[in-house]
Amino acid sequence: MAQKHKPQKKKPAAKRPRPKKPATKKIQPVEEILFRAEGKMSTFGGPKDTGMSADEGLALFTPADLQDPKYSYLFLSTPPPGTTGLGRRLNPDKYYFACRWNYNDTPREFLKRALARVENPSNGRTADARPVDWGPNIATGRVADLSPGLATALGLQTDDVVRITISALRATALKPAQRTKVAKPAMPVSRPPTAARPVIKQFVRSPNCSSRQVGTKIDKIVLHCTEGSLASALAEFQKSDSRKVSAHYVIDRNGDIYQMVNDCDCANHCMGANHGSIGIEHVGSETDPLAPQQAVASAALIRWLLQQHQIPRTNIFGHDFTPGYSRPGGTSCPDKLFGPVHSQATIAAWVAANV
Ligand SMILES: [Zn+2]
Repeated sequence: MAQKHKPQKKKPAAKRPRPKKPATKKIQPVEEILFRAEGKMSTFGGPKDTGMSADEGLALFTPADLQDPKYSYLFLSTPPPGTTGLGRRLNPDKYYFACRWNYNDTPREFLKRALARVENPSNGRTADARPVDWGPNIATGRVADLSPGLATALGLQTDDVVRITISALRATALKPAQRTKVAKPAMPVSRPPTAARPVIKQFVRSPNCSSRQVGTKIDKIVLHCTEGSLASALAEFQKSDSRKVSAHYVIDRNGDIYQMVNDCDCANHCMGANHGSIGIEHVGSETDPLAPQQAVASAALIRWLLQQHQIPRTNIFGHDFTPGYSRPGGTSCPDKLFGPVHSQATIAAWVAANV
């Protein structure tokens, strides 16, 4: 499990051999994800949004944009009485949204032209929408504000979870017919096949998590062993009165995947390395290898996460070998799940062979 003190463990080897690239079967181009957010939402904009002041503007648009037919459809033809700002002039029936952009990664001019895919993960509904503003404030615990019309179309209510994706193909090839033509020159030769999203058997929410800091990139996956049963892991991660530990996912011996923390939030699974990582627990004892169905589920989940968050394949670590992991004395986790030798080389070899 996550944070147990194991005084007799050896220091991890400093060298980490590069895993060999697996032989890819069919090469399929995938969309390059340029921006992704998943978490709670609310709504904003339009004449009735008194949360915005009468003169409040938008981070991505100026009054001059009202003359541009590419953008003018997002706004009402005349300002609502008593208002001067673009925020209240948004047409609440059109599909727009705001996220906390890092303008180094997604500059304003890019965002103005971008079209995002907005999804309601709980019912699978999706719609295309345009970024118009920066927000919501991080203190709200939400990741996005949507137009009232977009929220209604997707069946979302305040504090429901939304998923927003801006990909290279969406941003540059608005006409579907151009997609493959535009995609080809931009794609490196050795793109992995598109991964399917594995089935999550149940979302069992853990309170032991926090919002990731703005601008934090998810850049690694940490693999754990529960050193106990499924029931004890789920129970431990739901307790808020003891060690306050958690993980994003727990995979049972039979391959069932439970999610406990949204990817966009920070779980407490790897002291010192939680901020940019996703933690996956595998049910097993200190001496168990992965069960066959569990290994299949874990590889599928890892493939999906690598693709979703554009994580390098070399950044999949066993708990004890994670860069930044800082618990004194270390841990024996992930024990013998991925092989008999306690080393990152064992993890890398398993990844090369299975993921
Ligand atoms: Zn662990």
